[in-house]
Amino acid sequence: MSEPLIYELSSPGRQGVRPPKLDVPESVLPKAMLRESLRLPEVSEVDVVRHYTRLSQLNYAIDTGMYPLGSCTMKFNPKINEITARLPGFTGVHPLQDEDHAQGALYLMYQVQEYLKAIGGFAGVTLQPAAGAQGELVGVLIMRKYHADRGEAQRDTILVPDSAHGTNPASTSMSGLRVVEIPSDTRGNIDLDALRAQLCDRIVGMMITNPNTLGLFEERIVEVIEQVHGCGGLVYGDGANLNALMGVMRPGDVGIDVMHFNLHKTFSTPHGGGGPGSGPVGVAAHLVDYLPGPIVTIDETQTDDELPPYYTFQMPAKTIGRVKSFWGHFGIIVRAYTYMRMLGESGLRAAAEHAVLNANYLLSQIKDHYFLPYDRICKHEFVVEGHFAECDISALDIAKRLIDYGVHPPTNYFPLIVHHALMIEPTETESKQSLDKYASILRAIVEEAKTTPDLLYQAPHNAPVRRLDEVQAARKPVVRYA
Ligand SMILES: *Cc1c(COP(=O)(O)O)cnc(C)c1O
Repeated sequence: MSEPLIYELSSPGRQGVRPPKLDVPESVLPKAMLRESLRLPEVSEVDVVRHYTRLSQLNYAIDTGMYPLGSCTMKFNPKINEITARLPGFTGVHPLQDEDHAQGALYLMYQVQEYLKAIGGFAGVTLQPAAGAQGELVGVLIMRKYHADRGEAQRDTILVPDSAHGTNPASTSMSGLRVVEIPSDTRGNIDLDALRAQLCDRIVGMMITNPNTLGLFEERIVEVIEQVHGCGGLVYGDGANLNALMGVMRPGDVGIDVMHFNLHKTFSTPHGGGGPGSGPVGVAAHLVDYLPGPIVTIDETQTDDELPPYYTFQMPAKTIGRVKSFWGHFGIIVRAYTYMRMLGESGLRAAAEHAVLNANYLLSQIKDHYFLPYDRICKHEFVVEGHFAECDISALDIAKRLIDYGVHPPTNYFPLIVHHALMIEPTETESKQSLDKYASILRAIVEEAKTTPDLLYQAPHNAPVRRLDEVQAARKPVVRYA
């Protein structure tokens, strides 16, 4: 039986707080500011506590179970990250404070810049962008300005593979450039012939996600990059999938010119509720001067060896400008720093290796049951078809049925090039037991699809809300109690 809502518990005169005695003269709020129609519940403290505790129990979180949302890298966020991010020295620092008084915070930012340079193989990093998508916009603007400065302002086109995340074409359009889509070949790689056919002196560059959103390593990445460079274009790396590569391969080494990192994916940090994130951008040497700032540098004018290095903010010479107020999302940067320091160099590599191992293990446990359109060893995630034509079951039915089993569904209907895509990314933090459990649920659902498809059409059955009309939910959301 569902519990009564807090509004239904309201009883006139019931009170949960007792305000302190007035120590100022009492005055009456102007009538115009009061809304008689506002039905505020009159409830006790215990009613309020139970109301919010119940709401919190309706949440699904990585702290309650596996969250294999492909592309999102919902890895467990170690609790020490939260402890460090809440240290008073970090929470109390004011963005307008003198640099002298914030040397610890600047030092931490400098270190994160250095670590990301080392992990990505880049010459410079900015911590400014608020998320991956903003990092993409920054990258595209940098590429555009680089060409304009070289007298090649006619370059107006960005190539984007058809498997790309929607933010890639969106960032390109936002920067006023044209998008040309490049198809994938039968192995799930960028189609090289189709790419060659588009190369000309109008190309600003190409955006590449590697491993791509099918979870597959671009087998001819070096050749793709050579081709784009060959026509004077630059290569943007969508670093959202770095979790499969960190410590193993440096994108800068294969010729990626500019790339964003998703600190909230690769380097933990909870991001289920839509933010805040952090999308630092790394660049090769020829683009360092274009980075948005301010960037933390060591003050070289201080020559006294007795003193520790002095950290200061600097704006790169040809910067595309500021993209964010103040200094980026500092709390996320602290969490990423903690994550990197806790794991260390070998630990980061092990995390990538385990992410790949876990994805391949889970794939091996279900691949006889779901159609795998690109049958290759995957990286940190894989994409199967969630469609059974004989019983008209769709990826949405499977996703909703997973909720009945008490686990989170994978990403569905992305990437667009797979029919009824189910995109599964278990991440490295799942044990063999939890992978086995998820696999057995996915297999059980295939059986149900064949024997009792009605169960799936109407799922979820035991969730707080039943299946929603998704169109109405997006267009006309009901966000308040009637
Ligand atoms: C998440 C993601 C992005 C965008 O990153 P945000 O931080 O969510 O803005 C871009 N590309 C891919 C492949 C992603 O998975």
